[in-house]
Amino acid sequence: MRVLFASSEVFPLIKTGGLADVSGALPAALAAAGTDIRLLMPGYPVAMDGVTGKRRVADLGDSLGVGSPASLVSGKMPGTNLPVWLIDCPALYDRPGGPYQDASGADHADNHMRFGLLSRVAAQLSCEDSPLKWRAQVLHANDWQTGLAAAYLHHWGPRERAGTVFSIHNIAYQGLFPKKVVAPLGFDWSLFGMDGFEFWDQLSFLKSGLVFSDKIATVSRRYAKEIQAAPFGCGMEGVLAHRHADLCGILNGADYAVWNTATDPCLAQRFATADMVAGKAANKAALQSELGLVLDPEAPLLIIVSRLNDLKGMDLVPAVLPAILRLGGQLAVLGTGDAALEASFRAAALQSPGQVAARIGYSEELAHRLMAGGDMLVMPSRFEPCGLTQLYAFRYGTVPVAHAVGGLADTVVDAGYDSLLNGTATGFLFEHTNPGAFQWSLERAIDLFRRKEDWRRLQGAAAAGDFGWDRSAECYQDLYQSVLPHHDGKTRRPV
Ligand code: ADP
Repeated sequence: MRVLFASSEVFPLIKTGGLADVSGALPAALAAAGTDIRLLMPGYPVAMDGVTGKRRVADLGDSLGVGSPASLVSGKMPGTNLPVWLIDCPALYDRPGGPYQDASGADHADNHMRFGLLSRVAAQLSCEDSPLKWRAQVLHANDWQTGLAAAYLHHWGPRERAGTVFSIHNIAYQGLFPKKVVAPLGFDWSLFGMDGFEFWDQLSFLKSGLVFSDKIATVSRRYAKEIQAAPFGCGMEGVLAHRHADLCGILNGADYAVWNTATDPCLAQRFATADMVAGKAANKAALQSELGLVLDPEAPLLIIVSRLNDLKGMDLVPAVLPAILRLGGQLAVLGTGDAALEASFRAAALQSPGQVAARIGYSEELAHRLMAGGDMLVMPSRFEPCGLTQLYAFRYGTVPVAHAVGGLADTVVDAGYDSLLNGTATGFLFEHTNPGAFQWSLERAIDLFRRKEDWRRLQGAAAAGDFGWDRSAECYQDLYQSVLPHHDGKTRRPV
């Protein structure tokens, strides 16, 4: 089966969050399972530099009239044989800053064109207009940045086209633009209505993906249910409830080639799962000394590796911090995000040196060391479609303390009476989004941390869990099968 996987960020070429991890690992797992899969992404400078064996394979013209023609560059993902296509369009992608924002943190003013082109090329490679011999049978588009792809296919009405799957990795980000962008993106007004990509008189890339794709996937079963109602649906709950028969939840996986304590090059000391106790002790001591925390093996070391914003529940952390410190805990934070939250973590570190460390920034290496040296991973997310860090934490013997939403509820088994007794507990969950409930779960965790034998059992159960990509890849293969075009020569009617 030939699958085109379109995404705006792919690890290790460029990453701002979980979408990149998924886009790096899922196609690799699908390729290993026999799918003929190609990645498609914008030709950001770092991506152009990062791929190997680059060659130009097609001219794409200036279809959106941005002033410079685009071309398709083919290469391989670094260190692998996985094919990736980059859209080389310097007018849109060759600039400093991140994929969505400039260096000052402001959204690129032409994001609708940047991701309009990504969507358009994805659509082009999925129908008879493709300049390439290889033509997708299934187009798998991811998040709002690729949401217009299915709309282009619908609009063009090609004789033959790929089946389309649209994945929601985070519904809070919707790609909303003023309606004046409709014509520049190459559409007429026929799709700008309630049954199309119009959303409160604006154009929503995300809604386009939800309305025009054959099937919709999201990254956990629980999140698939949650987003069919407010507030989790973020305004899209009506559309999703309407399309519930075509909506499914497939849990993300962890890339155990990257997250493996026995081979991880970032760790102070690598260790096998069987040597978890000694391995973690060595990494904890190294981490405490790296971060300037008091060298104390008995102090529960809580870690945060996250974007710092209210969606991630980070505003709840300062409220529970005094309790953590009172119980002898330490907190190490790695993240970037809202300026006020960044400042508040910096201030906490200044106020309690030796007990709180804040690294405001992005560091893949430190994220690995935190996972290896920490005792608990704090995840009070208000929404969490799947969450990846808890899956990494499991393998690294770091116990998640998390809000029972989305993928967190689907993957963390709360340490209750029964689950502790039968050895299935893997973490701590709290139900209500308030500091009191959060604090209670932290107190339970710190209490159990001091009962060494129970704690090791919990770590063992968490590390033994298999959240690899193979299982998800099988589910995606079934989903792709369900949208394969009929071979009757007729255009498939988009749903
Ligand atoms: P989201 O996609 O909502 O940000 P996920 O838990 O799905 O959340 O994925 C977040 C990914 O980004 C994880 O791989 C996590 O380790 C990584 N990450 C987040 N912030 C940082 C940071 N400051 N430094 C390094 N890695 C980070």
